Amino acid sequence: MVQVKMKYGIDLGTTNSAICRMENGDPCIKKTDTLKDTLSSCVSFTKKKVIKVGDSAYNDLRQDKSRATKKWSRQNENVFIEFKRTMGLDTPYETSNMGCSFSSEDLSSEVLKALKSFVSDDSINAAVITIPAKFKADQIAATKRSAILAGIEHCELLQEPIAASMAYGLSSARKDGVWLVFDFGGGTFDAALLKVEDGIMQVKDTEGDNYLGGKNLDYAIVDEIIIPYLQENYVIDKILADDAKKQILRDAMKFYAEQAKNQLSFKPHCDITSQLDEFGEDDEGAELELDIVVTQQQIKEVVAPVFQKAINICKDLLKRNNIQGGDLDSLILVGGPTYSPVLREMLKEQITSNVDTSVDPMTAVAKGAALYASGIDSEVTEKISFGTVALGLSYESSSVEVVEFVSVKLLPDECTGRLSSKVFVELIRNDRGWSSGKIEINEIGDVVECQLMEGKTNVFTIIAYDDKGTSIPCFPNEVNIMQGIVVGNAVLPYNIGIEVHDRSLNRDIFIPLKGVEKNQPIPAIGVRNGLKTPRQLRPGMSADNMVIPIYQGEYNVEGTSAIYNDHVFNVSINGDDVPALIPADSDLDIILKVDRSQQMIMEVTFPIIGETVEKVIEVAQRSTGVDIYDLQNRLDEAKQKLISLQSSPAIKESETIEVQNMLNDITGRFDGEKDSDDGKMHLLADLRRAFLKIEGVEKEHEWDSIEAELRTEFDRLEKANSDLGSKYDNQVEELRRQTDVVICQKDVQVGRQVLADINSLFITVTLIYQLVGFVRHYSQNFRQYAWKDANRARQLLNQGMEMVNNNPMVETLHPLVCAVIDVIDMPENEKPEF
Ligand code: ADP
Ligand code: MG
Repeated sequence: MVQVKMKYGIDLGTTNSAICRMENGDPCIKKTDTLKDTLSSCVSFTKKKVIKVGDSAYNDLRQDKSRATKKWSRQNENVFIEFKRTMGLDTPYETSNMGCSFSSEDLSSEVLKALKSFVSDDSINAAVITIPAKFKADQIAATKRSAILAGIEHCELLQEPIAASMAYGLSSARKDGVWLVFDFGGGTFDAALLKVEDGIMQVKDTEGDNYLGGKNLDYAIVDEIIIPYLQENYVIDKILADDAKKQILRDAMKFYAEQAKNQLSFKPHCDITSQLDEFGEDDEGAELELDIVVTQQQIKEVVAPVFQKAINICKDLLKRNNIQGGDLDSLILVGGPTYSPVLREMLKEQITSNVDTSVDPMTAVAKGAALYASGIDSEVTEKISFGTVALGLSYESSSVEVVEFVSVKLLPDECTGRLSSKVFVELIRNDRGWSSGKIEINEIGDVVECQLMEGKTNVFTIIAYDDKGTSIPCFPNEVNIMQGIVVGNAVLPYNIGIEVHDRSLNRDIFIPLKGVEKNQPIPAIGVRNGLKTPRQLRPGMSADNMVIPIYQGEYNVEGTSAIYNDHVFNVSINGDDVPALIPADSDLDIILKVDRSQQMIMEVTFPIIGETVEKVIEVAQRSTGVDIYDLQNRLDEAKQKLISLQSSPAIKESETIEVQNMLNDITGRFDGEKDSDDGKMHLLADLRRAFLKIEGVEKEHEWDSIEAELRTEFDRLEKANSDLGSKYDNQVEELRRQTDVVICQKDVQVGRQVLADINSLFITVTLIYQLVGFVRHYSQNFRQYAWKDANRARQLLNQGMEMVNNNPMVETLHPLVCAVIDVIDMPENEKPEF
């Protein structure tokens, strides 16, 4: 098979998508049908059953939403946006014009098909498609399905922040340091921290909010600028009092808000004006019209609080990685709203002055995807034309070195037509600054040392010659090598675990798998041993079924309810899978292998029969989403926890106010959002955030009490040591150092360990003291105790008193005390201990 490098990168965005092709070593964005760089990820189905994608579909949406204000009732839905949000769920998008419903994957595949149509020269069956860093395994699988539906059989997936930083990294002079990718999209916000060493990029940590994006800015403008304007100029109290009508009004106005927002990225002020007959009427029959002037200052007040949320997320991300904003070598802006001068100013003030605007925020992801594609081999399916020499090439397509080895061999089986007796090739760098000279090649191959220019994609043209020195066509006829930047392994965006039934607690709990924690480089392997089979599996009995639900999430705490994480797949094993009887309660070991594109294979081992069952985790599974009753219960649980925090005297009101606000917000939205899949996921996401905050407050106070204890216990130890002759100065000093360090770090676990060490040294330091006390006490109160052998006891204690009175030492007194304890007549567990 002849292999060539892939050429296409696709940013399949929630709001906008783009396609990019590698041409002469450069990523070139392909223009859409309306000659723009990006395509609106919007699909419309017309009455004539035509499928429209992009700007014209978005226009349909705008008209539908305006028209809805004429009757104040929703139109039949035939235009869809933001279907990427429900990727992997079975949410149906019903269209009356088509008389059927589509899934997120179907709609996404329409976007992909439209993108493919902007490339005229060849049909695309291989491409790199980007996914949010925080996509879960089921969402990733769904994206693959969309690609296949669109005829992209070979698709590789790449995390969006890595793509963006590739686009940035190649053009940037910086090849080292810590980078923060700030991707503020239409409806989602993602932040990713990358470490770059000698041009090799590695994601270190990610964070984000799936419900924060340009859309929130638009609605903020609607609510704080446009609706107040309408209230001033029209009578709309009744419309606003009716939730459904109010939402229709907000949706119609959103487009105007968006337009104004986008213009104000480049202008000091702008006008919001609507056309005549665009909207319906107010409560008193006057036709609604917009004519507003918006200034930078006004917009700033409205959008700043929304941007602040994203900045706070970055601050948390930096803090937990012990990085100061000023330590960042580069903050890379991605996503449409990052054009905003308001945001850029805020980032400079609050995070770093190294805000980088050198890449185009709308196309960086697609460009990076194409650059990445140029490093991936893909098989060529079409026939090689007659008389062309087929070559087998193998090389690393990105490098941080200045020389790269390209191996070239002849593939005679792939060639059509008669081959010349000898074949030579020459590799010429396209700037003509370097060439390999003619090299004879055969089926075994030869290695060519190619000289690279730094910080560029180096393109080498391959020219083949026959034995007479005449040039002949060859395929592939080009080699691209990117110098200066290499992508390290991707990392897991979430912890992975499974749900098991805990019999002692009588509930289902989450247990993490070791090795597949968040930020582990992938491929990765997760392990969990010592589980038990819940029921028997009889060979051949498919009804004997055992299900292992797999979860992904942020909350990697064993024993918690699995709801804090997302259910992504079920692995099911039944009697058909096993060759011999496995009784209930048998041991069970699990291994989960996660490959580079986060596809999973589970190996389940039953030691009792020495067999392992391997299950490739099915791509076709869709998850059913969030259970509403569970959600309600969890909300109640969170409220309970809040009440108990609030009633704790150590916790100030200011510490719980944020949790209080979060829970109020969730409660307020609950009924409005509980009926849609996206709404439920939003509620759940916020609820989890509230739980994490609650836990944070709890932890904070846990530390406070540990710190107080550390201080008193250390003081006691220090005093005892100096009172008792300062024999342990070195150890005490060491513990002082450890105490100081842990107090700085506020690490609960280490704190506990240091505390245990202080106590144990205290016992050692004061042991002689306690031994002396013991001997005195038992000697003086001899008669109050029952003795197994009173004579021996009396004799031992007399000896002991003699030692006490003449230079007592631990070495001699300790065995004596132990001997005394032996002869005390009381149950072992009640005896004093030394
Ligand atoms: P996604 O990654 O979700 O597909 P994009 O990065 O394409 O999203 O961003 C879309 C968002 O960017 C929309 O909310 C859009 O209004 C906004 N946007 C586009 N251009 C500008 C601009 N010039 N200034 C501010 N916002 C913009
Ligand atoms: Mg995007």
